[in-house]
Amino acid sequence: MDMTHSPNPQHRKTAPCQAACPAGVDVPRYIRALRNGRFTEALSIVREQLPFAAACAFACTHPCESACSRQWVDGALAIRDLKRAAVELADSAPAPPEVPPRTGKRVAIVGSGPAGMSAAWWLSAKGHEVVVFEERHAPGGMLRHAIPEYRLPERFLEKDFQWISSIGVCLRTNVRIDVPETLLREGFDAVLLATGAWKSLRLNIPGETEAMVMDGLKLLQDIRSGQTPSVGRRVVVIGGGNTAMDAARVCRRLGASVTLVYRRTRKEMPALVEEIEAALEEGVRMRFSAAPIRIEPNRVKCVRMRLGEPDASGRARPIPTRKQFALDTSTLIVAIGQGVSVPEGIRGTRYGTIEIDEQTGRTSIPSIFACGDTVIGPSSIIEAVAQGKLTAAAIDRHLGGSGTIDSLSPDGCADPSSAEPLPPGHARTRLQRRRPALRIQDWDLVEQGLKASSAMTEAGRCLSCDIRWFEVKVEAELCKDCGYCREACPSRVFARSDEFNAGGYRPAVVLRGDDCVGCMRCVYICPDFAIHVRELGTRENKEIGTDRRSPQ
Ligand code: SF4
Ligand code: SF4
Repeated sequence: MDMTHSPNPQHRKTAPCQAACPAGVDVPRYIRALRNGRFTEALSIVREQLPFAAACAFACTHPCESACSRQWVDGALAIRDLKRAAVELADSAPAPPEVPPRTGKRVAIVGSGPAGMSAAWWLSAKGHEVVVFEERHAPGGMLRHAIPEYRLPERFLEKDFQWISSIGVCLRTNVRIDVPETLLREGFDAVLLATGAWKSLRLNIPGETEAMVMDGLKLLQDIRSGQTPSVGRRVVVIGGGNTAMDAARVCRRLGASVTLVYRRTRKEMPALVEEIEAALEEGVRMRFSAAPIRIEPNRVKCVRMRLGEPDASGRARPIPTRKQFALDTSTLIVAIGQGVSVPEGIRGTRYGTIEIDEQTGRTSIPSIFACGDTVIGPSSIIEAVAQGKLTAAAIDRHLGGSGTIDSLSPDGCADPSSAEPLPPGHARTRLQRRRPALRIQDWDLVEQGLKASSAMTEAGRCLSCDIRWFEVKVEAELCKDCGYCREACPSRVFARSDEFNAGGYRPAVVLRGDDCVGCMRCVYICPDFAIHVRELGTRENKEIGTDRRSPQ
């Protein structure tokens, strides 16, 4: 029995990073452009799928990096930092896309955050007239009004809005829409609700009306609007998400000592790991497994928690113990999560979000759609952007269009000759962080972007998983069904055969050979030397049979 999978290297496949990106950004292609120092081209490739290229370059949760195949070699690529390099080092703005002929259909979008503006972009790209209504003085939702300047500078966010405007999206600020149906009566053919999750959740404990209690989101908005809230010298922040982390770091910049209280352990914190690390570096103290139970003037009483069985979120449920302690505080900041305001006449879910039809994106009112945090609750920028794109497709269908809003570029293999990656041992390039003592003195960016040469080197680590092909072969008679290959393979290439080999074992079979990224984990882990992996080359250079790495 010889179980060989021989793929067809004429085709391009979806790399793990692109598959993991909710917006489907063509990561390997823009990385190849970067590798050759073509920063403007890289930026325009990012923008093919992502109108918020700049916002995501600074503040994305980068799920692509968790999927990157290079992590099995010597560390995932710094994909977000490379996107930032494209944004910062592009010498000109990419040429705006051609605006297609108008369809005569009009769409109103309520809310100008990442979900609403992403939908606006794609609907405009389909030829519909789009008007975005924003109740604040400037567009951007959380991006502009909550994320601190040291994480997402406004000058870069402006680039995203210039880009989105270039396709003809009309923006009307300082307009509040309370009853979305009025927009239908005004002649819009469809309405999209993308107002976000701005309603801060309450602790519901005694003393919450004390004057020293402050809402974390309100604090961040005040800071972004140029105010300097007075928080005193000792701040306690309640919460473990990114808003809590932002609030804590902002208070350090306001000169306060900060203690953050979170009811689970650090491992369960929903905030990004790098945000937690940055907060700790900046001197934020963290009290884990604790929750507030009573607020008194200048003091908060807390109870120690222990972790029980997993709850609905899949995380261990915090259970109060009998141990209590108190923290002195001049300001108590509550940042335990956000909810959604469901507009009048629209049906909500039991989670307090807007109910939609999963297939069509429609709310309980025909021709009114919803997306983003209003539907899924507080989420990341990239999830909101992806939601906007999906809902734009649904609205396009509703308006008589095809609902097809993009496809993988068939000619997207620029520079295949540069696809040969740097060999193992080239560790991920790290961004330089300013010293914590300096950065809490101002609102400037914490991390310095990559220089052109560093960005090109980091891009050179990319394995070009989209255009490199491998032949995976299992010598079934040698296999003793230990299952190590199935466990080790990040691409889930192997399955277990239904048949038995001569030794009476059910050997490994190659089920999804096209997904092999050539990490060689299976080859090294197989105790029976039954697996062989051979590189077949890239789509363009067709060096079929180039056996570079397999120790056969
Ligand atoms: S190595 Fe490159 S193509 Fe492969 S997953 Fe990582 S970034 Fe994507
Ligand atoms: S088949 Fe082997 S070389 Fe290919 S991805 Fe899986 S473990 Fe890595």
